[in-house]
Amino acid sequence: MPAASPDTAPVIGVLSLQGGVEEHLAILEQLGAHTRRVRLPKDLDGLDGLILPGGESTVFDKLARTFELAEPLTAAIEGGLPTLATCAGLIYAARELENPASGQQTLGVLNVTVRRNAFGSQRNSSERTLTIDGETVESSFIRAPIVTAVGGGVEVLASTQDADGEDVIVAVRQGHITAVSFHPEENGETTLHVAWLRGCRS
Ligand code: GLN
Repeated sequence: MPAASPDTAPVIGVLSLQGGVEEHLAILEQLGAHTRRVRLPKDLDGLDGLILPGGESTVFDKLARTFELAEPLTAAIEGGLPTLATCAGLIYAARELENPASGQQTLGVLNVTVRRNAFGSQRNSSERTLTIDGETVESSFIRAPIVTAVGGGVEVLASTQDADGEDVIVAVRQGHITAVSFHPEENGETTLHVAWLRGCRS
């Protein structure tokens, strides 16, 4: 995508409580978007899009509740803010977790059930090539979750095979929310960000 001019570039927030924030910011800036770190409710004002990065979903939950950010995040996303959720971001967005940590809460904005750490431990990280909306996406799976059930309004974008050779869902879309199990921000990959940014108006 050619770099947008500064006047028309969308303002994209990245949830910046913990996790893979810098990688998303770097890609967004490379693609010509304005960026903002989202830590407090006021950081959501006037955004054209939001990224929930990878990291540790239990930490997102604890810190967002501490900073009174969880409810404003839910309201903004339910209000139609285009959102890209990656790995822990998918977990944090999900309506239901099969295996939550003790007391773990989620935003509940994405009508899916998710299993955390579904590919095993860190040692089972892998690189895979997926096709999403007809485009090739190089994807890094790191302690990745899977989607085990989808509710109404959710479209499956990609599946892959788990260690047992079973097909498992790793990318979904629910209207303005795109959510993936993997890290699309590693190894210079930008395809998913480019496609998602097209849906973020400035
Ligand atoms: N397992 C992590 C969690 O539960 C997600 C891992 C990741 O984002 N790479 O949040």
